[in-house]
Amino acid sequence: MTRQIRSRQERAWRSDRIVCGKPHGWLHRRDTGHNARVVSEPFDAVIIGGGPAGAAAARLLASWGHSVRLLTRTVDHTRSLGESLPPSCEKLFDLLGATDAINNGGFLTSTGNTVWWGEGTTRTAAFVDGATGWQVVRHDFDALLLRLAASAGAQVVRGALVRDVRLASANGRPGPAVSTVEYGTDDQSRHEVQASFVLDCSGRTGVVARRGYRVADPTQTTLALAATWTRPDGWGLADASHTLVETYADGWAWSVPVTPLRRYVTVMVDPRTTDLGGDRGVISRYEREIGKTAALRGLLEGATRNTVPWGCDASLYHADVCGGPGVLLVGDAASFIDPLSSYGVKKALASAWLAAVVVHTSLTNVSLAGVALDLFTTREREIHDASVRQSTTFFAEAAARHLHPFWTGRAGAGDPAGPEPAADVDIARLREDAAVLAAFEALRGARQIGLRRGDRLRIEARPALTTREVVLEERLVLPTWPADGHGIRFLRDIDLVRLVELAPEYEQVPDLFEAYVRRCPPVSLPDFLGALSVLLAKGALVIT
Ligand SMILES: Cc1cc2nc3c(=O)[nH]c(=O)nc-3n(C[C@H](O)[C@H](O)[C@H](O)COP(=O)(O)OP(=O)(O)OC[C@H]3O[C@@H](n4cnc5c(N)ncnc54)[C@H](O)[C@@H]3O)c2cc1C
Repeated sequence: MTRQIRSRQERAWRSDRIVCGKPHGWLHRRDTGHNARVVSEPFDAVIIGGGPAGAAAARLLASWGHSVRLLTRTVDHTRSLGESLPPSCEKLFDLLGATDAINNGGFLTSTGNTVWWGEGTTRTAAFVDGATGWQVVRHDFDALLLRLAASAGAQVVRGALVRDVRLASANGRPGPAVSTVEYGTDDQSRHEVQASFVLDCSGRTGVVARRGYRVADPTQTTLALAATWTRPDGWGLADASHTLVETYADGWAWSVPVTPLRRYVTVMVDPRTTDLGGDRGVISRYEREIGKTAALRGLLEGATRNTVPWGCDASLYHADVCGGPGVLLVGDAASFIDPLSSYGVKKALASAWLAAVVVHTSLTNVSLAGVALDLFTTREREIHDASVRQSTTFFAEAAARHLHPFWTGRAGAGDPAGPEPAADVDIARLREDAAVLAAFEALRGARQIGLRRGDRLRIEARPALTTREVVLEERLVLPTWPADGHGIRFLRDIDLVRLVELAPEYEQVPDLFEAYVRRCPPVSLPDFLGALSVLLAKGALVIT
C-alpha cells in the first residue's frame, strides 16, 4: 500500500464515520478512538452497501472472526419505504443473533394480510399458527442492523460512496482474490481499500452486478409511487396491523401501517405509460391511481397525506451468475423479486448468510471455494425462480379478472406449471404418490423382505451447508429424483444414506427400524415407513 493511500485512509479512520465495535482477533495497528481499530489490509471482506444484505453479511463475517469493512452511502431518509416482513424472517434474525434487538426495536407487529385480489372480495389471511411479522420503516430497520454489524466488530463507514471496484482476476479461479475498492466520503475525500472478497450488496445500484451480470425482465417493468398518510382517529379496520393489498385494472396498491395512526400507501404502475413530469405530475398521477382503487380509496377518505409521493423503480432483473473470483453479488444486487411477495428483505438476509458462508469457507478451505461459489449461484437462482413462479400465479388470477396488458404481460412471464424442485422431496406429498403407496402396501404385505440397492443408485459427495460452512456430504443420487439434481440425504430427518446401507442386512421391517434408531437420532415409525416406501418407489432400493 502506498504512503499516500495510507495517509488518506488514516484521515478517514480519524473521522467519526467509522463505527466499530469489539475486534475479533485480527491485527490492530492503532486505536483511533470511537472504538475504531486499524486492520491490516487486505480486509477479508469489503462490503458495498448497508441495506439488510450488507449489514447481515458484515455481522456474520465479523462475528466469525473475519476483518470486514462495510461502505454505505448517505441516503435520503425521507424516501425510506414502509415494508412488511413475514414471520418466517425470524429464523434468519435468530441466525444473526438479532431477534431480541428487532423485537425491542419499536416496530409494529403484524398478524397477517387483507387482500382484494382480482375478484374484488375481501380475503383476510392471518399468519399461520398465530405467528406475527414486522412492519418496518426501512431506514430504522437498516440502522438497527448496521449497529448490530458494528457491535460484532465490522468497520461500518457511513457516507461512503463506492465509485469503482478493480477486481483481481485470480487466474479465473474461484476463491479469495485481492481486489481494490475506491470510494469517496461526504467530505469529498477519496479512499481505497483492498479485500480478499468484495460483496456487492448495493441493491438495485449493482456497483459490480451491472457489469454484465444482470439481465432485466422487460415484461416486469414497474414504478412504485409511495406516500405516507395519517389519520388521528385510527383507520377503523378489523385488524389495523395488516398489510393491505388491492388490484385494479392497470396496477395495484398496497399499504403498510408503521404505527397505529401512520401508514405507507404505495401504488404500482407501468412506467412506460406513466408521464410524471415534476412534483405536480407525481401528485396527480398518484391520486388518480388511488382513485382507481375501492377499498384503499375508502380507507384514505378523511386521512392526511404527509408527503409528496415519491417514485422508486421496482422492475425485475436477475443475474445468471452471482459471483466470481473474490466477488459475490448479494441480495438485490443479484436479483429483484416482485414486492408483492414481501420476501425481498428475507431473500436479502438469506443471501447474506449464504454469502458469508461462501466467504468463510473460501478463506478457511480454499479447495472448496469453487464448490461454494457454484452452490451460491444455484441457491440464488432457485430462490429467485421460486418467487417468480409464485408471483406469476397471483398475476394470472388478477389477469383473469382485469384482462389488461399490465396483468396479462406479468401473468405470461413465469411458468407456474413448471417444475417445483422442492415438491418432489416433500414427504406429505410423496405419501399420496401412487408408486409410493404401492411400495408401502408391498412392504406391509411381505412376511419377509429382501432388499438390495437399486442398479441406478449412486452415493456421491455433494455440497451441503452447515451454519457457517460449505461441506461435502454423501447423498443418494438417482437419474430422475430429486428433480433438482442435487441428490438427497434426509427425508423428514431420516438419513437415507444410512437406511440404504442398512436395509440389505435385515429381513423384517421392525428389525430394520430398530437397527436404524440404534445408529441414528430417533424418528417416528410412520416417517420411517414413508421414507422406506419412497426409496422403493424411486428405485433406490429394490425387493429381491
Ligand atoms: C416499492 C418496493 C416495495 C417493497 N416492499 C417490500 C416489503 O414489503 N417487504 C420486503 O421484504 N421487501 C420489500 N421490498 C424489497 C426490499 O426493499 C429489497 O429486497 C431489500 O431492500 C433488499 O436489500 P439489499 O440489502 O439487497 O438492498 P438495499 O436495501 O437496496 O440496500 C443497498 C444499499 O447499498 C447502498 N448503496 C448503493 N449504491 C452504493 C454505492 N455506490 N456505494 C455505497 N453504498 C451504496 C444503498 O444506499 C443501500 O443502503 C420492496 C421493494 C420495493 C422497490
